[in-house]
Amino acid sequence: MADSPYGRRPIHTIKLGRQTSEDDKLRYVDVKPKLEFGGTIGAGLLTVALPLFLVAYVALLHRTDPTLTAIANIRSVDLKSLFTFEAFLIVFAWFICSLLSYLIPYGRNVPGRRLPDGSVLHYNCNGLIFLLIALVGFEVAYIFNVQIIDYVIANIVQLAVASIVLSFVLSVLLYIRSLSVPKSALSDAGYSGNAIYGFFMGRELNPRSYGIDLKFACELRPGLVGWLLIDLCACAVCFKQTGSVSPSLFFVTAAQGLYIADALWFEEAILSTTDITCEGFGFMLAFGDLAWVPFLYCSQAIFLMNAESHTPQAIPHWFLVALIALFVVGYVIFRSANLQKNNFRSQPNSASSTGMKSIATGVADRRLLCDGWWGWVRHPNYLGDIIMAFSWSLACGFRYTAPYFYPFYLCVLLVLRAERDERSSLRKYGSAWTTYCQEVPYRIIPGIW
Ligand code: NDP
Repeated sequence: MADSPYGRRPIHTIKLGRQTSEDDKLRYVDVKPKLEFGGTIGAGLLTVALPLFLVAYVALLHRTDPTLTAIANIRSVDLKSLFTFEAFLIVFAWFICSLLSYLIPYGRNVPGRRLPDGSVLHYNCNGLIFLLIALVGFEVAYIFNVQIIDYVIANIVQLAVASIVLSFVLSVLLYIRSLSVPKSALSDAGYSGNAIYGFFMGRELNPRSYGIDLKFACELRPGLVGWLLIDLCACAVCFKQTGSVSPSLFFVTAAQGLYIADALWFEEAILSTTDITCEGFGFMLAFGDLAWVPFLYCSQAIFLMNAESHTPQAIPHWFLVALIALFVVGYVIFRSANLQKNNFRSQPNSASSTGMKSIATGVADRRLLCDGWWGWVRHPNYLGDIIMAFSWSLACGFRYTAPYFYPFYLCVLLVLRAERDERSSLRKYGSAWTTYCQEVPYRIIPGIW
């Protein structure tokens, strides 16, 4: 066993070689990875607090007067009415459809990152076809006036609660399954020896069943496509009630639609992201994919739909043009930075990759890109994401703070994520990472942080 920046940890998570059961044993016994999110207490609190917060927030947004003080009145809600079997069936059917879409024999079969045991998994990158099928389904429902559109808006809290229940059920099943897989199939959290932390972070890195990669199939499809469908339902209901869709709501839906279609168009780019390469599949990702993303990220559209019916938020045309420009700036940074890094990682020997300034790490053929967007700041893709998020919330005007939760939350999330990713990169690459930080001193905002 070699020493590594992890202390006594064997470096085989980054060394490409065959694992022996002896290695597994050593790794299991020796590795005590640093616990993220405050360890057991933090993971336990987040598992309880995030779902409660989500339900309260969705209920708040659904009010005609979404002031924060209105949260106090949410106590008067009949708790029994929050869970309905009907909503659960809809959410469950949606989840199963998004998983089954992975099996549609269409799209590119793309190899993922080499795993610690030397194997390489292949992924069916056909999420775009799922989006197209969902959009056709929405169009049909709209044309034939199927009640599901009104149902989604009228029962959005119940659907959010059902999604939370489903994410708990899924996480429990994933946890049980992870107890019988080989140690080499576990993520770092799987080695913590801590049940609460393992449940929250996810123990198994790449759970696969019936030919479906569960983590990959859940990463974008149910959440992102569900988010867009809720936005579209908000537009449809708004049009029905008022005879028009405000420019703000149109902008938010179109911009978020582009963001979502883009993610599915470039679906293979997620193969080099932290969620796919490092995280296990547990409550954090399951809850994020099934409940948090669709029901929280649609907040601006839900707010604008309600505002249009009760307290219209007219914004000047010049301001809307400025928001479109802000969104385009964010989108260009986000997309081109993600593509630059993904191409650099997936084709390290191509002419475009070798022509870019980079730092050798000594780990396999991985170099650190310090050119283009990645020579400007260390997380340019996060910056683009944050800029887009603000453009959506600014379209909601300045009367209420509720629709601003998403961009501020995203700032906190991505700042924590940047710190976490940098700790992990320092462990992986040691002095090469330090050199990169000297070369590119700012993390997200040039000149500031
Ligand atoms: P990244 O896609 O930036 O992936 C981080 C990994 O990239 C690092 O661990 C490292 O992995 C590699 N890397 C980092 N710097 C370099 C470099 N200079 N050269 C080469 N490789 C490098 O981050 P995330 O996975 O966190 O995010 C992916 C996208 O998803 C982002 O655009 C983010 O904005 C978005 N996102 C959105 C969220 C939302 O809720 N809206 C939530 C989370 C993410 P290695 O060296 O091992 O290859």
